[in-house]
Amino acid sequence: MNIHEYQAKAVLKEYGVPVARGKAAFTVDEAVAAAKDLGGPVWVVKAQIHAGGRGKGGGVKVVKSIDDVKKEAARMLGMTLVTHQTGPEGKTVRRLYIEDGSDIARELYLSMVVDRGTSRVAFIVSTEGGMDIEEVAHSTPEKILTFSVDPASGVSSFHGRKVAAALGLKGEANKQCIALVQSLYRAFVEKDMALLEINPLIVKNDGNLLCLDAKLNFDSNALYRHPEIVELRDIDEEDPTEVEASKYDLNFIKLSGSIGCMVNGAGLAMATMDIIKLYGDEPANFLDVGGGASKEKVTNAFKLILSDPSVKGILVNIFGGIMKCDIIADGIVAAAKEMAIKVPLVVRLEGTNVEKGKEILSKSGLAIIPANDLADAADKITKAVKA
Ligand code: ADP
Ligand code: MG
Repeated sequence: MNIHEYQAKAVLKEYGVPVARGKAAFTVDEAVAAAKDLGGPVWVVKAQIHAGGRGKGGGVKVVKSIDDVKKEAARMLGMTLVTHQTGPEGKTVRRLYIEDGSDIARELYLSMVVDRGTSRVAFIVSTEGGMDIEEVAHSTPEKILTFSVDPASGVSSFHGRKVAAALGLKGEANKQCIALVQSLYRAFVEKDMALLEINPLIVKNDGNLLCLDAKLNFDSNALYRHPEIVELRDIDEEDPTEVEASKYDLNFIKLSGSIGCMVNGAGLAMATMDIIKLYGDEPANFLDVGGGASKEKVTNAFKLILSDPSVKGILVNIFGGIMKCDIIADGIVAAAKEMAIKVPLVVRLEGTNVEKGKEILSKSGLAIIPANDLADAADKITKAVKA
């Protein structure tokens, strides 16, 4: 789960991480009031969307008067902000962050991830902070350094010194960096983060360190123990079909192809997506209804797929292990009764109660194309959508 920059900074601040003073604003009036409260003389108006690259897209403006805060707030609120992370459709700006302007001596990069290779939390740092870390990674990868922390011994000033040395920090900034690394590590582990990115981490003209941008992503499997983080969720930033899916506890990811998939088990779902591609088409979604889905869950999954206008055909591929094929068949029929299915539907069932399931489908009067195995199913659905 992602949160906004201003929320991320509030979370980090609790751990003693240095951030600038700022206030969130949902309207132009709130932005002006926030700017007056902060006092100036330099403010930054920052669009809050769940994507980076806002600076280049016109979503971050440094201004020197309340009038300009007002102008920029009016310009940004409601705009569609397109950045290299939003895709060409962009994102609507609904919230702003009004922050104290900082004088920047150096812009550095610092991020943390759970590194699957080493099964450790890793720090990734670079002296080339600012707006183009992707470009740095691409053309000068030697300028990006990685350190990981052994969870058995935890973080220590040793890691902080390594990071500070890699970033070329001396004196006061070096000391602050050692403290910063420990605070960030503690926040990362305690809040079950999956990603933390500070870009830029700056050295100010007065020599102090400050986190000027913050992006946090939390491990959704651990959200049950962080109600305070769940509260920060902004549904407007998420894909509406994915939000709907999460209500029914379905693992659903919207994709850009035309074949809707309903599968049980993540492995089988991925294999199904692969084989659709192999047969020359593209999946419209990833959908794992889970091992023990109920009829209701299947019905909702089916409705979700049908609500996507780009779906030109549906492939149901179910292996009935814990899940029984007749339950799936009931769900398909129930959903079909509620919503007219105008696209070809190929169903491949295998496993527990498969004969019962096939009987339910054949007696339903629905125009279902039965398939015997995965290859047969992929062949039939890709041909059916072209017919
Ligand atoms: P994004 O990564 O989405 O472009 P950032 O928060 O990193 O957004 O802002 C982009 C750039 O704007 C920063 O690299 C920095 O140069 C400048 N900037 C951002 N916040 C401030 C601030 N409070 N004071 C001065 N400059 C800022
Ligand atoms: Mg940034």
